[in-house]
Amino acid sequence: MEEDIKFMNEAIRLSKLAKYPYGAVIVRKGKIIGRSSAKTPVSSTIFEHSSMVALEDALQGYSIMGNLKGCTLYSSMEPCMMCMEAIMYSGIDRLVYGVEIEASNLFYNHIEDFSVMDFVKKVKPDLEIVGNICRDEALNVIKEYNNKFIEEDNKFIDMAIDISKTAYYPFGAIVVRNGKIIGKSTDDTPIKNTLYTHAELIAIESAVSNIKDSISRGNLHQCTLYTSCEPCMMCMEAILSEGISRVVYAATIEDSIEYFCDEFAVPFEEIVEKSNCKIKIIPELHRDKAIEVLKKHGRL
Ligand SMILES: [Zn+2]
Ligand SMILES: [Zn+2]
Repeated sequence: MEEDIKFMNEAIRLSKLAKYPYGAVIVRKGKIIGRSSAKTPVSSTIFEHSSMVALEDALQGYSIMGNLKGCTLYSSMEPCMMCMEAIMYSGIDRLVYGVEIEASNLFYNHIEDFSVMDFVKKVKPDLEIVGNICRDEALNVIKEYNNKFIEEDNKFIDMAIDISKTAYYPFGAIVVRNGKIIGKSTDDTPIKNTLYTHAELIAIESAVSNIKDSISRGNLHQCTLYTSCEPCMMCMEAILSEGISRVVYAATIEDSIEYFCDEFAVPFEEIVEKSNCKIKIIPELHRDKAIEVLKKHGRL
């Protein structure tokens, strides 16, 4: 147990230095023979998970098949299924992890990870698995990482509300990917007298046209839509079909009905649930600020 804590602390130390908040080490006979890099992900590949990097480091170019027998892998986070498959091939005897994989989705994540431990236990019963070692410490690193995104949410929802202050109708929306705005509604939204003049639609449309190589629907995956008001069904369709991963909204449709104009109060969360689309929704962020804008504009 003492040894487990010692090596888990090293995995957690690495998780604090890495780009994503995960770290891993591989130990043989009390010695670390592989570790994820402080620079993990080391390159822009799909194999950049900390466990994969630690495995590569320990294998030193040797084939993965059974070459890590007698080793323990310490990972600050329960490994995903890609890493689990590699761990099983490698012949590793013990897997010790800090925090369960679902915890990564508590705060901010575009990737829907889930536990495959039940399957692993069935197909590789001789792999010893120990969870919850230094769980709080491992989780704190993820929380700190996610705080950065909470700040980002606050900043971008304010920007969407700012657009709503000067727009023709009191609504504003922006689409953000990797911290950069790739689409937004304009101060003069609606820009023309058509059906499609909702702030969300204009923002999504401009984001799609900014992605030059877009040839099909669903290319706004990993994007967040910030909108000053809960989307209507017309906008919901565009959100779902363009594959937006997160939606942060300020005022509710009920607020819009109360202070601006008559609308159809279809709850966004319920539609998303029904659609089976995995969209993360952050509702009512800075709702008061958005309501102020609606009030100031007055009823239609
Ligand atoms: Zn992984
Ligand atoms: Zn709409």
